[in-house]
Amino acid sequence: MSIEGKVITISGASSGIGEATARLLADKGAHVVLGARRTDRLDAIVKEIAAAGGSARSRALDVTSRADMEAFVAFAEREFGQVDVVVNNAGVMPLSPMAAGKVEEWDRMLDVNVRGVLYGIAAGLPRFKRQGFGHFVNVSSIGGLYVVPTAAVYCATKFAVRAISDGLRQENDDVRVTVISPGVTTSELGSDITEPSARAMMDDYRKIALGADAIARAIAFAIQQPADVDVNEIVVRPTASPN
Ligand code: NDP
Repeated sequence: MSIEGKVITISGASSGIGEATARLLADKGAHVVLGARRTDRLDAIVKEIAAAGGSARSRALDVTSRADMEAFVAFAEREFGQVDVVVNNAGVMPLSPMAAGKVEEWDRMLDVNVRGVLYGIAAGLPRFKRQGFGHFVNVSSIGGLYVVPTAAVYCATKFAVRAISDGLRQENDDVRVTVISPGVTTSELGSDITEPSARAMMDDYRKIALGADAIARAIAFAIQQPADVDVNEIVVRPTASPN
């Protein structure tokens, strides 16, 4: 019942939930491998983890590239001998009403939030099957539970994460699969919103945001269960959240 010694890859670890998760898991004795595009941020986080006595590595990762994701997970395996947990956390949320026709933003959400998770699974699953164990932690959202205006495509990607995760779980009795569905959380998510009405809604919504460490603790809870316990879904909202 421990996190200590586990090798854990985390996509989207350069800010927000991924960063908080890397710091917490390293603090609990895991070997963490951080991936994202902003390698300057990753380098700084890895340095701080190491200075605090933790074990961390980082590698540039664009989750929309299958080859990049495979190289990222292979890097973790090479550095630490195996991979125990793959956290598919990277995500983007450029919200807008569908009538605004921001098709490139729809594509980006599908590429990062859905294909990125699939590529993480494609890289991790063969290794987990060879080992006979492994754990995927896939970050969905309360947007994976219901839809609101301006979030149709984002919610679709997060519904997809839940569907993919449940199918993955049903097909593999030797692999643990956890879906984490955060409510509003302090991070850089939504900094790429280009639609003024969606930005105003998000600024208002963020007033009650949880700290990213609250989501990191939920991820740690799932990982630290005994091997025969698979925590399938955790929803974490601010207590003050109306929906
Ligand atoms: P942040 O924007 O702070 O973090 C997103 C992370 O994803 C960054 O590290 C970013 O790194 C990374 N990322 C984005 N695109 C790519 C890419 N193509 N390849 C690799 N990494 C990428 O937001 P959060 O921490 O909030 O988001 C983490 C997850 O939590 C997302 O899946 C999000 O949908 C989910 N979530 C967040 C909620 C919230 O309120 N904050 C609520 C519900 C769910 P970089 O730019 O350096 O590549």
